[in-house]
Amino acid sequence: MHEWALAESVIKAAREHAAGAKLRVLSEVGVVLGELQAIDRKIFSFALAELAKGPFREIGRCRFRLIKAPAAFKCRACAKEFTLKVLKRTGREGEYIHFIPELAHAFLKCPKCKSPDFEITAGRGVSIKYIKGEQ
Ligand SMILES: [Zn+2]
Repeated sequence: MHEWALAESVIKAAREHAAGAKLRVLSEVGVVLGELQAIDRKIFSFALAELAKGPFREIGRCRFRLIKAPAAFKCRACAKEFTLKVLKRTGREGEYIHFIPELAHAFLKCPKCKSPDFEITAGRGVSIKYIKGEQ
């Protein structure tokens, strides 16, 4: 059910932005979802739409556009940068970690030097990319 909690924080952040920028109406909010963020897009969209219907007039007609941010990794041993796409071509690990990001380190290895020591440089979390509205 963390889709609802995330949707709530997006609504809160959008409303704070609207207040700060003195926007009377919010028309569109672009929400970036990391590829590794285990989230059900349907539930998330539904939660955003439902929460936006709340008592906040400025966000009642807002559209939420979900933008997928691909995951990216960087090997700590050889500095090779790689994505899930590269790994999906060689195996099925990508499918697993898409659903269980905590398992990334157990399933993935650097495609160049095979080291399991890498950092996740993109594709986590949820953030707001842009907010459109009218003053
Ligand atoms: Zn490496």
